[in-house]
Amino acid sequence: AQLINQIAAGEVVERPSSIVKELVENSFDAGANQIVIEIEQGGTRLIKIRDNGCGIDKDDLSLALSRHATSKIASLQDLEQVASMGFRGEALPSISSVARLTLISRIVNADCAWRVCADGSERDFNPQPDPHPQGTTVDVRDLFYNTPARRKFLKAEKTEFSHIETVVQRLALSRFNVGFSLIHNQKEILTLKPVLSDAEQEQRIAGICGSAFIDNAIKIDFESAGLRLNGWVGLPTFSRSQQDMQFFYVNGRLIRDKLVSHAIKQAYHDVLFHGRHSVFVLYLTLDCALVDVNAHPAKTEVRFREGRLVHDFLFSALHRSLANVRP
Ligand code: ADP
Ligand code: MG
Repeated sequence: AQLINQIAAGEVVERPSSIVKELVENSFDAGANQIVIEIEQGGTRLIKIRDNGCGIDKDDLSLALSRHATSKIASLQDLEQVASMGFRGEALPSISSVARLTLISRIVNADCAWRVCADGSERDFNPQPDPHPQGTTVDVRDLFYNTPARRKFLKAEKTEFSHIETVVQRLALSRFNVGFSLIHNQKEILTLKPVLSDAEQEQRIAGICGSAFIDNAIKIDFESAGLRLNGWVGLPTFSRSQQDMQFFYVNGRLIRDKLVSHAIKQAYHDVLFHGRHSVFVLYLTLDCALVDVNAHPAKTEVRFREGRLVHDFLFSALHRSLANVRP
């Protein structure tokens, strides 16, 4: 089982930033609105994520560390309309197979929190009491300590941390109602309060994408036949590393998709930004049953069940919104 977990870990745990992504997504699924991310040495020494979500019951702690034990999917039908970020039950067992993991959690109204540890082959699933407040902390130490070959592929501390920062920025743009705090080597790097107003929403965007983006962006909100596209599209006066500036979320999940890129590109070029790269932060919301998120290990690719419909919706939503501001 340990070997299988390590093989699966190759897909889920590529580097420290992928662990951060999986753990923060778990906190989202737990309904947390405050997440503290503590990193040491680019995540190779420590990744510690604390949330104030629903927590895990004492009796379910060992289950959470078992392979393919997810509390989020109960049937094949659920898999066809996944509403949570996680659904495979792979992250925690995979991480614990390549690092030393401690899971501490307390559910609402419990007398205390409970702690279990799993590192490599040693799995101590006998929960110990802990004073942790309601919510969950996952403490991941010494990444790849037992797989030296994979350790070698890690980059310099600075590079690994910058990957983490990128991941946290993407996650922060996906949940405005969640507050984030990112700490590296005891230094506070990023603090984002939960967003309460539209103005604060734009502040968060400015903090992440730069104020030059938001100052030159068109706000979009378009709805038709159960699909909604909202967000911001940058005007061509804005220029920065363009690749990094394309954020597209489907039901709160950042994705890359050819069909989406194509629709956006076409709308852009058609209207006013001839030959320019597009920059945007966009959110597509649609019925979960219309998106298959189970298409890729890292869950960054999706398949639309009505591809044509989605493409045409995106195109016309952008086309109309952009045409309104044509100079
Ligand atoms: P998945 O997210 O696909 O269900 P994971 O391995 O990421 O699988 O997590 C396993 C299980 O542990 C989850 O289904 C959930 O029940 C529980 N869990 C993990 N992290 C948290 C958290 N931060 N808060 C509450 N429950 C959690
Ligand atoms: Mg998960």
